[in-house]
Amino acid sequence: MTRDTVLERFGPWPHLGYTGASLDRASERRSEAAALLDDPRALACLIAGDTIVLRRTEAGFSALFPLTEAAGLGGRSAEACLLGLDGLAPHFVLPLHAAALAALTEREDLHMVDLRSIAVEGLVSAEEIGELATAKAMLAWHARRTFCSNCGGRLNVGEGGWRRECPECGAQHFPRTDPVVIMLTVDGERCLLGRSPRFAPGMWSCLAGFVEPGETFEQAARRETLEEAGIRTGQARYLACQPWPFPMSVMIGFHLQAESTDITIDPVELEGARWFAREEAALLLARTHPDGLTAPPQMAIAHHLIRAFVEGRDPPAG
Ligand SMILES: [Zn+2]
Repeated sequence: MTRDTVLERFGPWPHLGYTGASLDRASERRSEAAALLDDPRALACLIAGDTIVLRRTEAGFSALFPLTEAAGLGGRSAEACLLGLDGLAPHFVLPLHAAALAALTEREDLHMVDLRSIAVEGLVSAEEIGELATAKAMLAWHARRTFCSNCGGRLNVGEGGWRRECPECGAQHFPRTDPVVIMLTVDGERCLLGRSPRFAPGMWSCLAGFVEPGETFEQAARRETLEEAGIRTGQARYLACQPWPFPMSVMIGFHLQAESTDITIDPVELEGARWFAREEAALLLARTHPDGLTAPPQMAIAHHLIRAFVEGRDPPAG
């Protein structure tokens, strides 16, 4: 398939979801977060578990509210995390209790939706989707880190939400990001895709798995491919990465060179794996496969890894 054919079929390279934030994280200002909450320019997004509150605008939706309005809707300013500065305007995320969220469901000027749907449907700007990825991962970390893993003491929050501190033993705890490798194994004119039982019907995607202690990303990619599909692989080529706030990961994407071709799946991880010819993989991306098979949407790094193979080149970063 020529580059022109690919562009005609798919259009320009899409933006990789969750990578669009250009907010200044302003780590040197985090200790001033309490004072920045009082800045009249402050904006905040509201998150209750997996649900994001959007407000309707003339152009569509926005996840950012004036901070006083976000607090008035039930956002808990006392647990705010400072996401960064947009010029002089501080941006925060405020957690929202489920009960407060329930009280908003009748509001026609608001829209409650999960982050993945926001990214797939492009409900807010790429910039705001990137901010929401940070916000959601930060709140997920706080929800899991109430007590000290060293001594069991109840933790305080410091540095604008970017540190938890133990008053008992003095330990400091920082937000974590779990690395996940995601890889497309290529054997000449065909690529290896798998189906997890968790996938939507008909969807096939790249294999993926968590990096283990003491591994390089490349070693993890080869190990997971061998464990899940029984395929031995050699050369690994890094293509791109993507924050994946479900709950708090980063996906590191590779193409792997196949060194064996007989597939043996791990039935716990996969319900199927098979080779797809380049042209068939193109049909998955275009959602025109005669059997209704599909690949992940454009916001997902798996889409980019498959498209890079179909197109025969690297995708642009981010
Ligand atoms: Zn402690």
